Amino acid sequence: MPTDARRRDGGERSEVWSEVCVIGSGPRGLSLLERLTASAGRLRARGARLRVHLVDPRPGSGHVWRSDQSEQLLMNTVTSQVTLFTDDSVRMEGPVVPGPSLHAWAADPHTRAQSGLPAGEAGPGADGYPTRALFGRYLEWVLRSLVRRGTAEIVTHAARAVRLDDEPDGRQRVRLENGTVLGGLDAVVLAQGHLPVSPTPGEAALTSFARDRGLLHLPPGNPADAVLDGIEPGRTSCCAVSA
Ligand SMILES: Cc1cc2nc3c(=O)[nH]c(=O)nc-3n(C[C@H](O)[C@H](O)[C@H](O)COP(=O)(O)OP(=O)(O)OC[C@H]3O[C@@H](n4cnc5c(N)ncnc54)[C@H](O)[C@@H]3O)c2cc1C
Repeated sequence: MPTDARRRDGGERSEVWSEVCVIGSGPRGLSLLERLTASAGRLRARGARLRVHLVDPRPGSGHVWRSDQSEQLLMNTVTSQVTLFTDDSVRMEGPVVPGPSLHAWAADPHTRAQSGLPAGEAGPGADGYPTRALFGRYLEWVLRSLVRRGTAEIVTHAARAVRLDDEPDGRQRVRLENGTVLGGLDAVVLAQGHLPVSPTPGEAALTSFARDRGLLHLPPGNPADAVLDGIEPGRTSCCAVSA
């Protein structure tokens, strides 16, 4: 948590704000946001307010769990074991602020309605495997519920961050691809998950081997991002899995 918050004069009252930027709105970035909003009361007791900039092309779900992907893609974790909230079983310094697990959220008519999910439809059971898209809906709901907490001002930026610089006073500045500059940041958190990687020599060799023979090689990656248009029905294909 920043130690040197700024005083901003706004009319009659002046307020001290701490500014944090979280880059990445996957489960890690959102969990951090949950903890920041849970602990913002401590900051307030010291006379400061918290503003968090959440930067991701998909604020809420992030890229991996985007809610508009194919319903055929499933999580490999069962719904009752997935949550963005804390309970008394967590050993930590911050306050416990309970919230629903993915299973409890999906089974609750109220939270289902808030997320535009069809009423009366059974969600996945406690031991069921949810779709990745459903987890994305949950993450989007979590973000909205953190905004509703009202303990911190949350500003979402649906864009990629492209540059991080130090400022002369020790704070930091983030530039977004749309030209927005977020300056005067007391802390910047990089919660970017799996970043794109260059193909290994072996993968590059397979790609060029396939290309030379009029075949298609799909390198490892998120299946939701794979372009499968080149595979015609009935065409012989081969799938290799590496750990
Ligand atoms: C295809 C796939 C399937 C998976 N399935 C499972 C599963 O079933 N169960 C499981 O437990 N785990 C699974 N995982 C592991 C998964 O990585 C973690 O569950 C979890 O998503 C990690 O959370 P994270 O927040 O660290 O990263 P991510 O969820 O990857 O989120 C990182 C976010 O940062 C954003 N970002 C990156 N760079 C920038 C930038 N410069 N500016 C702005 N935003 C940026 C990305 O767009 C992304 O939204 C899967 C991973 C992948 C890739």
